[in-house]
Amino acid sequence: MRDGAFGHARGLLCRECGHQVALGPFYACSECFGPLEVDYDFPAVTRAEIEAGPPNIWRYKALLPVPSDIEESPNTEPGFTRLLKADNLGTALGIRTLWVKDDSTNPTNSFKDRVVACALSAARELDAKVFACPSTGNLANAVAAAGARAGIKTVVFIPADLEHPKQVNSAVYTEQLVAVNGTYDDVNRLASEIAGEEDGWAFVNVNVRPFYAEGSKTLGFEIAEQLGWRLPDQIVIPVASGSQLTKVDKAFQELIKLGLVEGKPYRIFGAQATGCSPVSAAFKDGREVIRPVKPDTIAKSLAIGNPADGIYVLDICRRTGGAIEDVNDDEVRAGILLLARTEGIFTETAGGTTVGCLKKLVDTGQLDPELETVVINTGMGLKTLDAISDQVGPAATIDPSYAAFSATGLA
Ligand SMILES: *Cc1c(COP(=O)(O)O)cnc(C)c1O
Ligand SMILES: [Zn+2]
Repeated sequence: MRDGAFGHARGLLCRECGHQVALGPFYACSECFGPLEVDYDFPAVTRAEIEAGPPNIWRYKALLPVPSDIEESPNTEPGFTRLLKADNLGTALGIRTLWVKDDSTNPTNSFKDRVVACALSAARELDAKVFACPSTGNLANAVAAAGARAGIKTVVFIPADLEHPKQVNSAVYTEQLVAVNGTYDDVNRLASEIAGEEDGWAFVNVNVRPFYAEGSKTLGFEIAEQLGWRLPDQIVIPVASGSQLTKVDKAFQELIKLGLVEGKPYRIFGAQATGCSPVSAAFKDGREVIRPVKPDTIAKSLAIGNPADGIYVLDICRRTGGAIEDVNDDEVRAGILLLARTEGIFTETAGGTTVGCLKKLVDTGQLDPELETVVINTGMGLKTLDAISDQVGPAATIDPSYAAFSATGLA
C-alpha cells in the first residue's frame, strides 16, 4: 500500500460500536459485526479549490478515500451530471421548485459508475488481481467497464433472470459474466463465500464496500454545488441496499461541517417498489427491524430483499422528518412515462419508482410541495425497454401519402 493511498482517510470505524480498524479490505467489525465506514482527517477545503477541479467526481477527491493523483490512473471519470430544473414535472405534480439530478448520463448510464470508480481506486491500492461484484445489473455494467479501462481482470455475478440489455451491457466489456440461478440475495451470499475463499479478489460491494460506498457522497456534493453551494429542503432517493441514501446524508453533513454550505434542516425521502419494499414496510409499521422479503417487481435494479443499510435508511428518514414510500409496477411504468413526457428524460424502472414515489409523497401530504425538492434519476431507460415497450409505439402505420397522413388526424 502506497503512502496516501486512501487520501485523507485515517481508518475504518464501526458504525455500531465505534471500534477502529486500519485501512484495508475489511467491511465488518471484528467486535460486533457492524458495518465499517471510512473515517477522515479532513484538510481545509475551499469552494474555489473544488470548482477548479475536473468536471467529474475527482473534483471532490479531498473528501474521498482516494490518492491525490487519482486522475492519473485510467478510470471512467464519472459524475458532474446535470442538475435540471424540472418545471414541467413540478407543474404536473404541483411542486413549486423541483430539480432532477440526472445520473443516467454517467459512462455506463447509472449512478453506479461513481461508487465503482472509488472501489477501483481501493482495489488498485490494495493490489487486488480481480475486480468483482454481485449485482442487480447496473453495478455489473460499471464494474466490467471500469475494469476494462483499468486493465484489471473482472468477474461479475448477476441473477440469471436479469433484463437482457443489462446482461449485454456487461458482456460487451467482460468475458467473465456469471449468471446465477437465484435472487440477488443468493448472488450476494455466493460473492461473500468466494471473497472468503479466494485471495486478491476485490468485490466492490462486499470486501471493499466501505470505499465503494463513499462514491455515493459525490451525488450529494454535486447537488449542493450545482444549487450554488446550498442544500435542498427535500430530496427523494431510491433505495436498494440503502447505501446511496445514507451517503447523500453523510455528504450533506460533511459539507456543513467543513463550512462549504450553511447548515439547515433538510428532509430525506426513500423510494422502493412495492414488490420489494422491506424498508418502506418497516417505516410504515413503525418498526426498527427490517424483515427480509423475496423480491417480485419490474424494478430489478432495486430488488434487494435484505438491504444491508436498511436500518440506517429508516433512521435517517425518520430523523430528518422525511418518509419512505413504495409504488406498484403500474405506478413505476407511469413514473417512467411521466418523466419522459414532461422533461425529456428516459429513466429505467428505478427512476420510474422514484418519480412514482415522489408523486405519491405529494399526493399523500408527506412531502411539502412548497419546499425546494430534488429527485434523483439513477439510471437509463434503454436498459429496461421491456418494462414499457408494450405501452408506447406508433400512433398510426400509414402508406407514404398525404391523404393517408391526413386521415390519421395527427396534423
Ligand atoms: C443500485 C441502484 C440503486 C440503489 O442503490 P443502493 O445504494 O444499493 O441503495 C438505485 N438506482 C439504480 C439505477 C441502481 O442501479
Ligand atoms: Zn463494532
